[in-house]
Amino acid sequence: MSNPFDGVISDDLKLVYYQSMEALINSLALPCRIIYPTTSYINCTSCNISEGERHTSTSLTGRPSNFRSMAGCAACNGEGKIPVENTEDINLAVIWSYKQFFKVGSINLADASLQTLSRREDSYQQIKRAKELIVDTDVETIGKFRFILLGEPVLVGFGDSSFIVCNWKRI
Ligand SMILES: [Zn+2]
Repeated sequence: MSNPFDGVISDDLKLVYYQSMEALINSLALPCRIIYPTTSYINCTSCNISEGERHTSTSLTGRPSNFRSMAGCAACNGEGKIPVENTEDINLAVIWSYKQFFKVGSINLADASLQTLSRREDSYQQIKRAKELIVDTDVETIGKFRFILLGEPVLVGFGDSSFIVCNWKRI
């Protein structure tokens, strides 16, 4: 018996799917910021301890012991250095409503605060390495909405895996 759908899934239809997904991403895209695991520090300018001074004033525990101004420094908690978040700005389509979530992935979607949809080549490597995500950096001054990834990015597509859906939980 022949399959009545043979030949229906044409390259043209795949292109329609691809273009509709692209349009969806473009229309829902918000500026977001990927936060990578902290790897860099800058010297604290509030207590302004130079490298040489820090060396001679550090006890065996590695903590500064002699410099009262540094030990009491509120900016660096007496560490003499301040962690700097390594970030990358990225546009992601953000889906806030549970009812509109893509039903993909192995996690319980009730745990997810939002989903993002994006082109794999624009975002997969960034999201895989992300520690946190800030959504909509346009309103960052009002409140930072930070999220962590739930489960793995889910590859979706129609004959390929051009897009990824990610589930995020508010922290
Ligand atoms: Zn300091």
